Amino acid sequence: MARTAEDLRKIQTQLNKLYPEAICMLEHRNAYELTVATILSAQCTDARVNITTPPLFKKYPTPNALASAKTKDVEKLIKPTGFYKNKSKFLIAMAQRVVRYHQGKIPGLAQDLIQLPGVGKKTANVVLSNAFGIPAMAVDTHVGRLARRLGLSFSKNPDRVEKDLCSLFSKKTWTLLHHQLITHGRTTCKAQSPLCNDCLLQPLCPTGLREKKDPHTGRWVKTPERVVSLVPSVTELLCQWGLASSLVGRTNYCIHPAKVLEKIPKVGGTKNPRLKDILAVKPTLVILERTENTLKIAQELEAVRIPILVLDVTDWKSWIKAYQLIGQRLHRESKSKQSIVELKRSIRGQGAKPLKVLILVWKSPWILAGSQSYCGGLVQALGGRILGNTNKSKSYPQRAPKDLERLNPDLILLPTEPYPFNERERQELEKSFPKSKVDIINGELLTWYLSRTSMALRYLKRNYFT
Ligand code: SF4
Repeated sequence: MARTAEDLRKIQTQLNKLYPEAICMLEHRNAYELTVATILSAQCTDARVNITTPPLFKKYPTPNALASAKTKDVEKLIKPTGFYKNKSKFLIAMAQRVVRYHQGKIPGLAQDLIQLPGVGKKTANVVLSNAFGIPAMAVDTHVGRLARRLGLSFSKNPDRVEKDLCSLFSKKTWTLLHHQLITHGRTTCKAQSPLCNDCLLQPLCPTGLREKKDPHTGRWVKTPERVVSLVPSVTELLCQWGLASSLVGRTNYCIHPAKVLEKIPKVGGTKNPRLKDILAVKPTLVILERTENTLKIAQELEAVRIPILVLDVTDWKSWIKAYQLIGQRLHRESKSKQSIVELKRSIRGQGAKPLKVLILVWKSPWILAGSQSYCGGLVQALGGRILGNTNKSKSYPQRAPKDLERLNPDLILLPTEPYPFNERERQELEKSFPKSKVDIINGELLTWYLSRTSMALRYLKRNYFT
């Protein structure tokens, strides 16, 4: 779900109503104490840190005092916060660096703070915003989780989440917003079971909106995803998995199953889909494939914060991964498992006949399917060897006629698409390769990955590999 300026304003208004005075919960009187408390708060609650720090600050009230502390003494004082051996080393080393390079005072610049042992980007931002009054967005686990659930970021990388949040909200609100998100994460949007039913942000939250109250039963149920598929064979797979009702957009090439797809809006081609048409159907997920679609459309969708699932389909391991990813994302784990079992069953017994195979996909110039291509993967999954693929980085390399003549394939396959090979061309190739079997094969069988993979494997095994 793309976040509009209006959505952002409403989210912030609600947070301001809920937590008008959210503040840092780590007790501190100065930048030194906050730096120490924040280092101690890793994997520990703020409440426990607040119980631990008073005796520590009493014994070591300044960086100078802490810099000459004995590790064992510090360990004893901070033990309740966990990971105390590492933390005590960091605290003393941090204090020593502050004494050595900053005249015993915690520096007020991000680039100096992150040089201190035990101080990462998050701690630096906490110190800058709370001790120096410099607006900063510290991303901890609560902020990251909330940002993702609210559709404000789709990254698990804290640096990227920080960038996303800073680009969406005005600088002067960063510090308060950070505390508000943390507070909301602790009280309502909990990691394991978010209390969406009690959450005032629910009408604005893509995650919360997936749960709706059934007016008849009064139960909270998941509402279906709104999926745009930019991959024809995945569109077919979704229909096979009973997800046709979740499809709200498809490409011009998503043609199977025709009857089911009749009323689903088209959003353009696989290489040049129209962003505005995708946005118009308000998708909660767009599915792409690395070679089928362009990086440009993936980046455009990310820029407007539409969740995307990018598949990378090459060999049989990647097919299994793709089934798993789609199954997890669209809550079809049992269908995904079923497809994987079927796939493994279709491959079983491979290697019985190690055929050398040439798959030609275009004529004038000759283009063949390489070992990195999907149909190359089908042959290899059955123990065959793909010929003519010297440049392994290309899925579909081009070859001069004289290069082809040097090959000695057992089998030449001529798919009916994208180039429509015909009987005359098959016979010509048969004359040029008298020792090879040359067959025309249904192009969709060799190119519609995931939805027809097991069928293709069974066909190839039955006709050539047994
Ligand atoms: S609706 Fe649910 S997921 Fe969204 S912010 Fe509220 S508690 Fe979190």
